[in-house]
Amino acid sequence: MKIINIDSSNSSKVRGIFSVTKKRSLNRKNKILLTQNIKYSDIGWGGIITTQKTQRENAITISQESFEKFGEYDIVDILCGEIVFLWEYENDDNCFFLTDSCSCKCVMCPQPPKAHNKELEIKNLKILELIPNHYKKSICITGGEPTLLQEYYLQFMQKIREKFPHNFLITLSNGRTFNNLVFLNKFAKLKSNSLVAISFASDIDTLHDEIMGAKNSFHQMHNGIYNLAKAGEKIELRIVVSRLNFKRLPTIADFIYRNYPFVFHIAIMGLEYTGYAIDNYEKININPKEYANELQEAIYKLNRYGLNVSIYNIPLCLLNKNIRRFATKSISKWKNDYAKECLKCDVKDKCCGIFTTSNKYPYTNIAPIKVV
Ligand code: SF4
Ligand code: SF4
Repeated sequence: MKIINIDSSNSSKVRGIFSVTKKRSLNRKNKILLTQNIKYSDIGWGGIITTQKTQRENAITISQESFEKFGEYDIVDILCGEIVFLWEYENDDNCFFLTDSCSCKCVMCPQPPKAHNKELEIKNLKILELIPNHYKKSICITGGEPTLLQEYYLQFMQKIREKFPHNFLITLSNGRTFNNLVFLNKFAKLKSNSLVAISFASDIDTLHDEIMGAKNSFHQMHNGIYNLAKAGEKIELRIVVSRLNFKRLPTIADFIYRNYPFVFHIAIMGLEYTGYAIDNYEKININPKEYANELQEAIYKLNRYGLNVSIYNIPLCLLNKNIRRFATKSISKWKNDYAKECLKCDVKDKCCGIFTTSNKYPYTNIAPIKVV
C-alpha cells in the first residue's frame, strides 16, 4: 500500500478513514478536503490536507511532492505519523484485504499468516461505503485466505455485488474452502459472476502440499476447482515458480489441460522476495533465466491447448524472446520499480519491472532490451 509519512509532531487531531476530494460540497463529514488554499468557509470537513502552514486543528500540512500523490476519490487511513492509501481510485489493483489468517503456510508466502483481526471487517465495510458508486474497475478480495471467514466473506461479496452490480470481482484463494459443499452452495447462490484465482503449486499432490505447507491441500483444492466448475464459476490458476516446482512446468501444463480444460485463465508468476520467501530463500530462490526453457515449453503447450495463459511478475529481459508477448505489467503500482539499467530499455512501458517489496533481489542479469 502507498504510504505518506507525516510529521508526527503535526498538531492535527484527524484520525480515521476518509475519502479525499478537491471539490467543495456540503457532504463533508467523511471527507478530507485536499487544498492549497484553505478558505474561511472550509468547516465541517473530516479533515484538510494542505501544503499551507495553518493553525487549524483538523488540517495536516504536507510537502508539495506528497500533495501530488493524492487523487480524487482516493480513500485513506490517517494514523499517527502516516497516511495509508487504502483505495486509489485511478489504480487497477485495489484490494479488500479481508484477513491475515490462512489455512496454508506457503514456503513463498509474501505475507505470512497471522490471527484474524476483527477490526479489518469494520475497516472493509467503511472502505466499501466510501467507494463512489461510479467506480468501474475490477475489485479484488484477498488475504490471507478470505474464504476462511466463510459467512463474513459471503456477506461481504453480497454487499459488494449490491453496490457494484457490474464490476469484475476476483477472489484470491488457495481453493481449499471450496471443497466444502455447504460453503460452495452458498457461494454459488450469490451468483456473484466473479472469478476465483487459485494458487496451484504442482501437479504432484505431495509437492503441492509441501509448497503450500498444508497436508491434503492438493486434494481439497482439486475438489474445490471441480465444485466451482460444476457451479459455473470462473476459475483462474496461479502458479508461483520456485526452485521446488520449476522442472514441473511442462507437466503442470499437461495436467491442467487434461484435468481443468475449463479454466478461464492461467497465470505463471515470478517470486516476490519478502515474508516466508526470505525465510526459505535458499530452498526456493531461482532466477527466471534458469527456468526460461521450462517456462517457454509450458507457455507453448497451454497456448496450443487453447488455454488463456499469462506471465506475471517476471521482467521481460529475463524471458525468452518468443514468450515475452504473454507477459503483463502485473506488479501493483505501489510496489513496482525499475533498476537503473531500465532507463536504457526500449520496452520499459510494457515491462512489470521489479518488486520494491523484495528485500533480497536475486536478479543480477537485468539487461535493457533494444528494439531495432
Ligand atoms: S495461500 Fe499461501 S501465499 Fe496465500 S496467504 Fe495463504 S500462506 Fe500466503
Ligand atoms: S531492462 Fe528493465 S525495463 Fe527492460 S526488460 Fe529488463 S527489467 Fe524490464
